[in-house]
Amino acid sequence: MKAEIVTIGSELLLGQIVDTNASYLAAELAALGIDMHFKTTVGDNWFRVQHALSQALNRADVVLTSGGLGPTMDDLTREAAASVFGRPLLLDQTALEDLEEFFRRRGRVMTENNRKQAHLPKGSIVIRNNWGTAPGFILEDGPRTLACLPGVPTELKGMFHAAVAPYLVKKRGEGSVIVSRTLHFSGIGESALEDAVKDILAEQTNPTVAPYASAGHVKLRITAKAENQAVCEALIQPMEDRLVSRLEPYFLGVNGATLEGAVGDLLQKRQATVAVAESCTGGLIGHRLTNTPGSSAYFSCGFITYSNEAKKRYLGVPGSTLQEHGAVSEATARSMANGVRKAAGTTWGLAVTGIAGPAGGSAAKPVGTVHLCAAGPDGACHEEHFFRGERLQIKERSAQAALDLLRRSLQKNVEEHRV
Ligand code: ATP
Ligand code: MG
Repeated sequence: MKAEIVTIGSELLLGQIVDTNASYLAAELAALGIDMHFKTTVGDNWFRVQHALSQALNRADVVLTSGGLGPTMDDLTREAAASVFGRPLLLDQTALEDLEEFFRRRGRVMTENNRKQAHLPKGSIVIRNNWGTAPGFILEDGPRTLACLPGVPTELKGMFHAAVAPYLVKKRGEGSVIVSRTLHFSGIGESALEDAVKDILAEQTNPTVAPYASAGHVKLRITAKAENQAVCEALIQPMEDRLVSRLEPYFLGVNGATLEGAVGDLLQKRQATVAVAESCTGGLIGHRLTNTPGSSAYFSCGFITYSNEAKKRYLGVPGSTLQEHGAVSEATARSMANGVRKAAGTTWGLAVTGIAGPAGGSAAKPVGTVHLCAAGPDGACHEEHFFRGERLQIKERSAQAALDLLRRSLQKNVEEHRV
């Protein structure tokens, strides 16, 4: 079965928003084992939307669209779909009741143009929208199938998951299923990781293993193809075990695993707590640590000590350290980590100080120079990094490296504790 995606919206063509719906749908289709050969983006223009839909329907078995289902003049996906299938738009009573209920619950008045959203092409399978107003719909005509979803990402995802994915699975029938599992790693570069498992990568057939990398975070995706999910899982598991046994020190977990989640797990295992002292990362580390639900069990607080004055006042960094070594130095990073640990009364203190640029660099300390320190019950560990990139990238890389330093320090600590 072949699918295509058509994302509709002039904002996409103007570069005002990123087409995350297309990447979401593409990944979901791949996970279902459905091939995709083309993807189109088109503006809010009736003629061009119609043209894009006809073209896609001629090439693929199933076409998925995103956007243009709202109540305003420029929302014309319903009209274009009806025209391509040669069907009239009819008022769908259930869709209208859902819309009325949506407005009633929020104490808002439904305007006349919202009624437009309940007019769907004749013969549509209606997809209820439990997240917003616009209902979606599926149209079938012989070999042609079109599924239209709203543009708002939460609505699109919810409706794809609840209605479109089950529909596609049924349509595709038994045969072959593709299941993937992603293994996440940190503290190792993409090429070093590939090198460590290159013999496995070379011999793979089913499952296949593919490496991916993004900002200090590398992944291996294992993909198996078989007659059903259980057989796929059985093919994946031994491969996962093999890869993890080689890369254990860097392994964070599978699928949704994150570095901050792995750090949180280690802290909880040790019944330890952490506080952060951030200079150049401006709160990013605290933000990431608190992205994990339940992080209040181990995250105490963060100090964004950007100025020298704040480093002295809140963390107790001696003025002489700052004067002799500078704010971006090993001595300051160590003093910040020990200082925050003491100020917050936590088991661990994590500190970062660096030059995010674009100004402020020198020959001795170029832009991207970052000092990290993790101070714990058995002493402190320091690292110096030289990151490349723009300001935001340097901040993100610094946060990633700092969290990984804490992860490795904790791991060592857990292992030492076990002995
Ligand atoms: P609405 O009922 O809100 O009008 P709609 O189906 O008409 O929904 P659009 O008006 O096209 O959808 O988009 C609504 C919002 O959803 C956009 O402003 C944008 O923020 C987001 N959005 C639309 N298309 C995409 C896309 N392809 N990827 C990510 N976000 C999108
Ligand atoms: Mg709209």
